Amino acid sequence: MKQASEYEHPHVVLLCPQGEPYTQAKAEQLTQKEHLIFICGHYEGYDERIREHLVDEDISIGDYVLTGGEIGAMAMTDSIVRLLPGVLGNANSALLDSFSTGLLEHPQYTRPAKFRGKVVPDILLSGHHERIEEWRRKEALKRTWSRRPDLLKGKQLNDEEKKWIREFSQKKDESS
Ligand code: SAM
Repeated sequence: MKQASEYEHPHVVLLCPQGEPYTQAKAEQLTQKEHLIFICGHYEGYDERIREHLVDEDISIGDYVLTGGEIGAMAMTDSIVRLLPGVLGNANSALLDSFSTGLLEHPQYTRPAKFRGKVVPDILLSGHHERIEEWRRKEALKRTWSRRPDLLKGKQLNDEEKKWIREFSQKKDESS
């Protein structure tokens, strides 16, 4: 078996809290690399010459400090591998995941239709595919608007989406 460094043109990632923040878009980019090597530091980190001369990019998995890079490398590996063909049972399910569309995913419901008095929204039981699709798009936008408004900065919204955002703001004003 070859050692990782013996592969031709491996793409070398340095796990580092000072690196570029890791995103779904980066996971998608890294699926295109033939071979990936993750370098995981410990203690103070790295000799600066490793960063300058041996790596293709520095990546941070978040604004906090871990003891070592291994957990970050595992998280990155999982997020990349699940995008490769044949890994997920249904490849389409990754297409609507949070961040893949630039938004958080809409709320999910499963059986039973009633749980502790809380019911699944009627629309999802209606069998009306177009209206369900519209509900999902609106709920994804609402969830992103309320939890991660930063994701909407610079995002092109169509007229219907702008109208929905006005509705969300109005409802929020009315309830406060
Ligand atoms: N002294 C370094 C600093 O302040 O930037 C932190 C070193 S940390 C204790 C040890 C190693 O854990 C790092 O070299 C890196 O490989 C890994 N690590 C810690 N936090 C990380 C993060 N947020 N993202 C990626 N890797 C991280």
